Amino acid sequence: MTLRELSSRENRHTSEHRVLTLRQKQSLFVRLIARLIIEVDRRGYELTFGECWRPPETAALYARQGRGNKRSLHSLRLAFDLNLFKNGVYLRTTAAHQPLGEWWEQQHELCRWGGRFADGNHYSLKHGNMK
Ligand SMILES: [Zn+2]
Repeated sequence: MTLRELSSRENRHTSEHRVLTLRQKQSLFVRLIARLIIEVDRRGYELTFGECWRPPETAALYARQGRGNKRSLHSLRLAFDLNLFKNGVYLRTTAAHQPLGEWWEQQHELCRWGGRFADGNHYSLKHGNMK
């Protein structure tokens, strides 16, 4: 399936359950993150990239340190941590991300925002029971 076909499917309003493969979700996630970055810019914020892809070895290390989940969506290329700034000030809190997180959740039925589990700069696409 081409990205154009995927986009057409994505945009078709239907209640039918669409099952995307992991590979299709990974590319959908890239496109949705591009939209998020543009929206953040439109609202007058700045971003720097935090963690996106996380090697499984790193996920395992984080899990041992109590800093993350061994089965992380980062290891499936379905999560991105974004560092948010306004007027040069680094906004570290989940509350600062909330308007963007709520916007993100509206973009696709699979979009999940980490602010729902005290991880405000984490933007992801649901896969199985992972978020
Ligand atoms: Zn994350």
